[in-house]
Amino acid sequence: DLLEASLERIGETDQEIGAFLKLDEEGARYRAKQLDEQEPKGLLAALPAGIKDNIGTEGVVTTAGSQILGDYTPVYPATVMSKLEQAQANMIGKTNMDEFGMGSSNENSGYHKVRNPWDLDRVPGGSSGGSAAAVAAGQVVFGLGSDTGGSIRQPAAFCGVVGLKPTYGRVSRFGLIAFASSLDQIGPLTRNVEDAAYVLQAIAGHDPKDSTSADVEVPDYLSALTGEVKGLKVAVPKELMGEGIDAGVKARVQEALKLLESLGAVVEEVSLPHLEYAVPAYYLLAPAEASSNLARYDGVRYGVRVEGENLVDMFNRTRSTGFGPEVKRRIMLGTYALSSGYYDAYYLKAQKVRTLIRQDFEKIFDQYDVVIGPTAPTTAFRIGEKVDDPLTMYLNDICTIPVSLAGLPAISVPCGLSDGLPVGLQIVGRPFDESQVLRVAHAYE
Ligand code: GLN
Repeated sequence: DLLEASLERIGETDQEIGAFLKLDEEGARYRAKQLDEQEPKGLLAALPAGIKDNIGTEGVVTTAGSQILGDYTPVYPATVMSKLEQAQANMIGKTNMDEFGMGSSNENSGYHKVRNPWDLDRVPGGSSGGSAAAVAAGQVVFGLGSDTGGSIRQPAAFCGVVGLKPTYGRVSRFGLIAFASSLDQIGPLTRNVEDAAYVLQAIAGHDPKDSTSADVEVPDYLSALTGEVKGLKVAVPKELMGEGIDAGVKARVQEALKLLESLGAVVEEVSLPHLEYAVPAYYLLAPAEASSNLARYDGVRYGVRVEGENLVDMFNRTRSTGFGPEVKRRIMLGTYALSSGYYDAYYLKAQKVRTLIRQDFEKIFDQYDVVIGPTAPTTAFRIGEKVDDPLTMYLNDICTIPVSLAGLPAISVPCGLSDGLPVGLQIVGRPFDESQVLRVAHAYE
């Protein structure tokens, strides 16, 4: 059966891949037995799932990849977990990730590295690299990830699976451990587009417990998978097909665009004039929000405490020991950007840039149905290749970050190989038009 096959596969492969931080075998077996008898069957009946470890799971340790939350066991489930339960999915375990979602390679996990199933010397991408690798290695039928600046889409691209970041507000963030609250979104990682539509159907919708969740009707995503793209207007930003994008990646994307044209789509070049400011703006805004969100980890309210001589010393020791180097870097960047005297020059400026980028997309969507380009400028890089150079690492998110700043829905779908490694095609839609994104991805796939 499905669960035993999954557990067997994990047993065979996860020693090497390291996709899981924790398995809940006992719980999964118990649920499998119950689900077997349950009628009627739910949308995701008994499908084994890997859940990113920043998603709160009641009674199951949830660390967000950080030592500081090493012993944190939520007493309530994230809304997406309640929804998965309604759909009768079966969580097998919690997947590895960059600490608090900060990273593009999973090398920032506070626990162990994840290896790319395509080539064990390479990274799976990040920060949802555990979920992406688990799906790619056939360990689970689907994974949940979270995406702040690309953390679902980029690992999907690197691991040759499908990853969907919904519109900001489409899926409840209640129970998701916050990184940058104005950007974080939960979404599916799956083997194909149809599965992504099923999982999104199960987790989408308004949630009174999340004030940023949108009260927008959830359509039937499966009925969008018509295979029809005739007359579809596709915009290809020239900045995303130029310098800095690997030749092999560009070639695969161009072939994908040709294929869409042969299916009747109209493909035209456009411009995202403020693209070059997206990464700098993101690396002010996301750390600023993170520095505020991470203030709560002080050894008093959550997780690990390192005793000190007095209260302040206890705070210092707890945070110095509990957080890894990238998290500390972001807290310093963020508190600096928010400090009085610098706020206008950095944080406010970055917010203005964010608006300009959103407007760039709005202008394009006046005339086009989707925006298409590569998901990442390269294929999966080698473990250790970028880890000592944060700026180079940050630039790997150049294709996904602008979309996050604009809050738009986007999918990464595999579009062939370059030197034996998977390439991802990113398809971006209008706000709350996940149906269109899924339709185009499905027609292409
Ligand atoms: N790689 C980006 C970062 O480090 C995006 C991470 C994410 O989407 N969670 O912030």
